[in-house]
Amino acid sequence: MDKQAAKLYFQQLNEFFQSNKDELNRLDAAVGDGDHGSTLSRGMKAGYEATKGSDSQCAELFVEAAKAFQDATGGASGILFSGIFQGIGNSGKGCETLTLNHVYEGLQFAVGQIKIIGEASVGDKTMLDALAPAVEELNRVKASKEDTALEQVVQAAQKGASATIGMAARMGRSRYVADGGKGHIDPGAQSVVYLLTILHQCWSNPFRSEI
Ligand code: ADP
Ligand code: MG
Repeated sequence: MDKQAAKLYFQQLNEFFQSNKDELNRLDAAVGDGDHGSTLSRGMKAGYEATKGSDSQCAELFVEAAKAFQDATGGASGILFSGIFQGIGNSGKGCETLTLNHVYEGLQFAVGQIKIIGEASVGDKTMLDALAPAVEELNRVKASKEDTALEQVVQAAQKGASATIGMAARMGRSRYVADGGKGHIDPGAQSVVYLLTILHQCWSNPFRSEI
């Protein structure tokens, strides 16, 4: 991924999360306080605004987006989601382009942050249930063709997110709703899927030179 593709990524993330804000709020209303879409759309807007006019290299754009996202959102989920951008940016520091290895290391960093700061484990019905299987899959396929690899990563994340429907929450606000929110998908896990889907789309976008 080069600088133009990274800029496209933050632009597309912003567009997607603005358009899907209400849907994510609805998912969060079933298991939490109904603000997940609003929080992420605020963060993505800040990430886009911080990167669109920036002259930085690819990895630095991720770090700039992470900082802006975190400043705009605050709270636990702000830190946990910005950790994905921060991790990818840190692992590619100084490089002109990002590789799947950088993404792998970055997502691994984010998983570590979620375990430490969020105190979550796999199976607690959180964003980790989408991100952890995605990282495992990326480790397995990162040597293969980039486009296919990311497609498989997205599928692993969606499978993990869908599995949260059957889980009773042990972390986050869902703990306090009936049956720990069993029967409802975890909104953070679904957002992780969207974040990776858009990464996949931008990674190989043939129109990126127009951005
Ligand atoms: P908040 O819970 O503060 O209202 P959001 O609604 O933006 O934040 O995000 C909720 C999502 O954040 C959850 O669906 C879950 O995936 C994730 N999350 C919340 N708390 C934790 C935690 N302690 N560890 C891991 N993920 C968490
Ligand atoms: Mg919430």
